[in-house]
Amino acid sequence: MSISSKFKKGAIAAAAFIMAFSACMFSACTNNSDDSSYSDNSSASASDAAVAELDLLEENIVNDNYANYYEIFVYSFCDSDGDGYGDLNGVTEKLSYIRDLGYTGIWLMPICPSPSYHKYDVTDYYDIDSLYGDMDDFETLISEAHTLGISVILDLVVNHTSSSHEWFKASAKAHINGDTNNTYYDWYNFSTSSQTGYNKYPSSLGTIYYESRFDSGMPDLNLDCQAVRDEIENIIEFWIGKGADGFRLDACTSYYTDSSTSSQEFCDWISTTIKSYKEDAFIVGEVWEGIGTIKEYSAAAPEMSFFAFPVSTSSSSSSYIYKATLSSESSKNADNYYSSCGNVISMASGGIPVPFLDNHDMNRVAGLMSRDENRIKFAYGLLSIYNGTAFTYYGDEIGMIGSGSDPNRRIGMLWSTDGATTIAPSGTTSTEYCFDGVEEQLADEGSILNYYKQANNLRNAFPEIARGELSRTSYDNNKVLIMHKTYNNSTITIIINFDTSEQTVEGDYGTLQKGLCAYRDTSVTQSGTTLTLPAYSIAVLK
Ligand code: CA
Repeated sequence: MSISSKFKKGAIAAAAFIMAFSACMFSACTNNSDDSSYSDNSSASASDAAVAELDLLEENIVNDNYANYYEIFVYSFCDSDGDGYGDLNGVTEKLSYIRDLGYTGIWLMPICPSPSYHKYDVTDYYDIDSLYGDMDDFETLISEAHTLGISVILDLVVNHTSSSHEWFKASAKAHINGDTNNTYYDWYNFSTSSQTGYNKYPSSLGTIYYESRFDSGMPDLNLDCQAVRDEIENIIEFWIGKGADGFRLDACTSYYTDSSTSSQEFCDWISTTIKSYKEDAFIVGEVWEGIGTIKEYSAAAPEMSFFAFPVSTSSSSSSYIYKATLSSESSKNADNYYSSCGNVISMASGGIPVPFLDNHDMNRVAGLMSRDENRIKFAYGLLSIYNGTAFTYYGDEIGMIGSGSDPNRRIGMLWSTDGATTIAPSGTTSTEYCFDGVEEQLADEGSILNYYKQANNLRNAFPEIARGELSRTSYDNNKVLIMHKTYNNSTITIIINFDTSEQTVEGDYGTLQKGLCAYRDTSVTQSGTTLTLPAYSIAVLK
């Protein structure tokens, strides 16, 4: 059952009141900002609330970087101390939730000190932002994640720093003073004249301009400077030493504004450097481009992986997932999806394919799916059939919506419907939630959340899905795809019904292992050589 409820900022006090008196709190993050009503619920566990029993398969986890990853915006995820902001201890509290959902990796968006709420403008690469906690908290998070078999990758933002970073202040001062011997003189790009992509440095002592392509608060580092590269290497060594399992590299196409070749070379340099400290590090880069450009980066930097942007909502109506779930495309759904499976693989030359539905910079997938519960589920089912390491943006598992502006895409996680979040980054214009919170969805067998859990379970049970070589059995009805994946001499068959009506398939494709159905109260059935597939269903046979 879905609800449509709006929680505006004015409802904060009411929500806090309800939370304080809720008799069946489910390990909720404390998210009321009133200290007098703050109570520590960290001892409550999932067992205190009803959790639907699902028919899950035994996991068969392979120790490699083909995994299910979960992207976390710490600010909005889980507030452990009731100050109104998410924090690292909040993430640690929720690690069991994340692992129970079937995720074996997390990507933490930037956690280093920064003046902005999103923290993509770093002022110190060797510390934790005090809003999020401290280094002890980080070490606890890493340790507990590893105990649960969860890898942790960190956002590495080295295209630019904050304009408040000491490096930048020293560099600007050196340019104003003509102090060419200063250590930081070459760390950024300056000009005495105004030019595209440059901002004027606020100083009464002299007029200079600095390269800052994203924002005046984000000066671009001079990546040709050897000292800058040495510093980046130190940063990598530091966080690997702290237990990081890899990095998500921000803004790869912007490393060198006018030269994609140089940006690609830098990707190769940084990924090779990371691997020199940790051979099995998982490195995934943001190249927000079409398939051709992603392929170029992948070929140039074979040690790293790149997000498969054409899958995601960023491509809107041409998104692979959007097209595959559209009934008006039903005459070519199977062909479209099968070819996208090949495209996802071809985007990764040396690394791992990285399909995903959306991230913190995009409209959430539930909106692109018209808030239709069945389509939302099916979209994730199709993502889960792709090769590679699939990423999920926090909140998508409960069908959170968010569009129009970045703050709207980054609102607080809804841990329970009654305990509405108070977290809304400055600039948020909508804190609407379309479906129930985590607590309610865990108890509801047919929820979006429990669909996600079963889809992840499928990937964890069959290593062939993420790693297999593709082939296809032709079929006369393009509403149905019959696809095979082979890995380590083991072949599974995946049969997908893209239509909103039931389909039957004749043929001996093995024994039905699991059916994943988007519509409530439906199931895939097998009788002899006849397979019956309800609307938007996926069957795995072996
Ligand atoms: Ca907090």
